[in-house]
Amino acid sequence: EVVKDELDLLMQRSVRASDTVSKELTRLNKIENYRKEFIGDISHELKTPIFAIQGFIETLLNGAVHDDNVNEVFLKKTMRNVNRLIYLTNDLMEISRLETGELKSNIKDMYLRDVVLDVVESLQYKAQKENIEIRVKDFDKNIQVRADRNQVKQVLINLIENGMKYNKPGGFVEIGVTDYKKKKDKLLLYVKDTGIGIEKEDLKRVTERFFRVDKSRSREKGGTGLGLAIVKHIVEAHGEKLFIESSPEEGSTFSITLTQTSPVLV
Ligand code: ADP
Repeated sequence: EVVKDELDLLMQRSVRASDTVSKELTRLNKIENYRKEFIGDISHELKTPIFAIQGFIETLLNGAVHDDNVNEVFLKKTMRNVNRLIYLTNDLMEISRLETGELKSNIKDMYLRDVVLDVVESLQYKAQKENIEIRVKDFDKNIQVRADRNQVKQVLINLIENGMKYNKPGGFVEIGVTDYKKKKDKLLLYVKDTGIGIEKEDLKRVTERFFRVDKSRSREKGGTGLGLAIVKHIVEAHGEKLFIESSPEEGSTFSITLTQTSPVLV
């Protein structure tokens, strides 16, 4: 009887151990697949601008360089593709630092309005050029949130730039703050646009890296397909949430929750 009990116990233990091993193998497999996919995606994204640059330089070398009517056009095209490679490399570095955990969020109390106004000011010139108005719905300057200032900036830049890229001429992007009904200590920071909107079936996928509803529109506007993946990472690193609402042809609203700390009255 005693031997049987011990055998049972041993069996149970070995089942548990093999369960742990198989879970660990699944986890490692997932990481490995993710890594392979990522490298595949990156190579694919790099190829397009690199081959384009190769083509333009070849054309120039084959004689176009001496033709004053076209040489500047080809050089400008080359420059645009070099810029794309630069944006892509920057976004890739950012996402890799976020994913490896190398980029730790430096979470402190910060005044939200200052950051919003800073970012909006830095994008104003671009907005004017593209005939889009950026509006800030005024909110209390004393509102403080617990977050990483630079990362909140990055989130705002990515969301507002998207609001401009996927807008219609004469449209606007509005940034504001509202209550988050579910939790008292949280608020919602939103970026709303009057743009082309996103179809329901694409909504779930827009935060996937390199997913774009319209590849050529994104590329033409200098998109890398990584902006929203970066936003999602940052929001999750803060333990916050990202919500997307959108109606095709009407516009989209991207909101993130932020944890409010008691406003200091001045
Ligand atoms: P991209 O560099 O292509 O803009 P993002 O990761 O920022 O990459 O966004 C992924 C895709 O989601 C975009 O290519 C676009 O199709 C869609 N998208 C993002 N923001 C908006 C928006 N405000 N309105 C409509 N579509 C959007």
